[in-house]
Amino acid sequence: LSATEREIIENSIRDVKDFPKPGIVFKDITTLLNNAKAYGVLMNHLYQRYKEYNLDYIAGIDARGFIFAASLAQMLGVGFVPIRKKGKLPYTTISEKYSLEYGVDEVEIHIDAFSEISNAKVLLIDDLIATGGTANAAAKLINQAGASCVEACFLIALDFLDGQKNLKEITNVYSLIEVK
Ligand code: AMP
Repeated sequence: LSATEREIIENSIRDVKDFPKPGIVFKDITTLLNNAKAYGVLMNHLYQRYKEYNLDYIAGIDARGFIFAASLAQMLGVGFVPIRKKGKLPYTTISEKYSLEYGVDEVEIHIDAFSEISNAKVLLIDDLIATGGTANAAAKLINQAGASCVEACFLIALDFLDGQKNLKEITNVYSLIEVK
């Protein structure tokens, strides 16, 4: 990613203070999505990076991860797989719980999401990594569904939370914008 490209992407992301609760700076990517130039720079960069990976699928995390994962899947000519919050997927699922600051959350995948290709190579995408709990649970699901999570890609990494250390299920991690 060139310095100019990084700047275009970074400047298109809006910081919203105290959302959804006091003390949180929410990284709002809707302002990137409605900026065709910034969205294009981002998707082109991801396409150039991942076209050599020989991926079989791209999995996106509910809900903002879907947008980037589905866009890239179309560009690369591979399938898209949604990893959703509990109770949203209609068919038989595998689920994985993970802990939050207060309480637990749960993500799910369809049991047959990767069944067309044996040992499928999967790229996992989300908009942002904070503690890493969500992405790690998502990677577990990919592996449990018979595929292999070859890399996790985040548009934004909140480095001050050191979420990468919680990605026990993931060996390769790529993030574009690092927030110190
Ligand atoms: P975590 O499991 O702690 O890594 O949280 C990551 C998930 O929460 C991602 O799906 C993000 O979209 C969302 N998230 C957490 N913190 C923020 C934030 N400051 N701004 C935007 N999204 C966030």
